[in-house]
Amino acid sequence: MRRTRYFLPTLKEAPREAQIISHQLMLRAGLIDQHCAGIYSWLPLGTTVLQNIADIVRQEQNKVGAQEMIMPTIQSADLWKESGRYEAYGEEMLRLQDRHGRDLLYTPTADEVVTDIARNHLKSYRNLPTLVYQIQWKFRDEIRPRFGVMRGREFYMKDAYSIDMNEEEARASYKKMMTAYVRTFRRLGLTAVPARADTGPIGGDLSHEFLIVAQTGESELFYEERLEDLMSQEDDHVDVDDIMSIYAATDEIHEADKCPIPADKLKVARGIEVGHIFYFGTKYSESLGLKLAGPDNTTIVPHMGSYGIGVSRLVAAIIEASHDDKGIVWPESVTPFKIGLVNIRVSDEDCTAACDTLYEEFKAAGITVLYDDRDERPGVKFADMELIGLPWQVSIGPRGLKDGFVELKNRKTGEIQELSLEDITTKMQEHFGR
Ligand code: ATP
Ligand code: MG
Repeated sequence: MRRTRYFLPTLKEAPREAQIISHQLMLRAGLIDQHCAGIYSWLPLGTTVLQNIADIVRQEQNKVGAQEMIMPTIQSADLWKESGRYEAYGEEMLRLQDRHGRDLLYTPTADEVVTDIARNHLKSYRNLPTLVYQIQWKFRDEIRPRFGVMRGREFYMKDAYSIDMNEEEARASYKKMMTAYVRTFRRLGLTAVPARADTGPIGGDLSHEFLIVAQTGESELFYEERLEDLMSQEDDHVDVDDIMSIYAATDEIHEADKCPIPADKLKVARGIEVGHIFYFGTKYSESLGLKLAGPDNTTIVPHMGSYGIGVSRLVAAIIEASHDDKGIVWPESVTPFKIGLVNIRVSDEDCTAACDTLYEEFKAAGITVLYDDRDERPGVKFADMELIGLPWQVSIGPRGLKDGFVELKNRKTGEIQELSLEDITTKMQEHFGR
């Protein structure tokens, strides 16, 4: 993409309303535009990151056998009245009416709808286990939307639902999802700590929240150090039982001397909740009358679970976890472009010719590249590149070019290499496996 053609409105200063670094950087790097309180437009650069994250989430859901579907954002209130949550959900639910005066709402979650679909279409225990998910916009009229997309009112969420014939099978589905979550957060370059969560008054007894360690996190987090290594290792291997056996919790209540974690292994931190998995038993199958034919002429009431990932919140959480004083540092797995190509002097014919050639070569190799071909001062271009945080910067100026060199900079380490025009393409192709 040529920068002169690309809609990327970067800002030198962060608007004053932005309190935390991710919100400041998301505005400055032209990822989002605030529409009104808690509601944002995603500009091209932000949209690409959001979709890259959604793709990783999707791939890992598919890998454990979850099937993607799409449920409506506007839902009939009738179903929610049936489950009892139309009243119970409270002020966070955005309620609407159509022209006939029928009550509708904007989905804050889809447990009711998925249970309705199941009762309409599943007939027998042989249809189980059923594991489905969607990646869809949600709306919750948060009392205090803040920190940009971190706590928005409209936000993008992956929500999965499991339907199983009994508790044992439901626990197996839960573990599958746990596995998918561990892999997802690893691929996003994050260390997410799975903390045992309070299952609240609605029962079930199995629930974990996944939290990213960050100073700006809203929750206090207590966990055993070893979890960090298990969660951030680089391969696909997940030992769910081991992970679930390690203690981690938010909002600890016991006294220090009763802590199950030895003092020298205890970590206390702030955490951002990016995911939540929840086994809730027969809550919705009972309230909405989901019954299936079981074996030997029996009837079964399926056990269900729901599994959320805050996809739009993750954009902010990744920035909280990965930035420096110059800007964002995108992990390669989610970066909007792999390479930023800087033409240091567009008025120089050789320089521009070399940049154009390299730009075409990267594109031909399937490596995404943002080419800063603007007639701007180099300082402005470099500052922008640092701000938007692409993992690799290639810059070409008349002086280096005369000696046959271009510069390759690693955004994360700051390391700079001088390479020939031929070597740079090969190096990047090898690096990205093209
Ligand atoms: P929180 O305690 O942060 O309000 P929650 O418990 O209400 O979260 P869930 O209902 O479990 O959240 O939703 C699943 C995921 O959706 C959360 O883990 C979080 O990542 C994301 N999420 C929830 N509310 C918001 C919001 N207002 N803005 C952005 N993401 C959100
Ligand atoms: Mg909430």
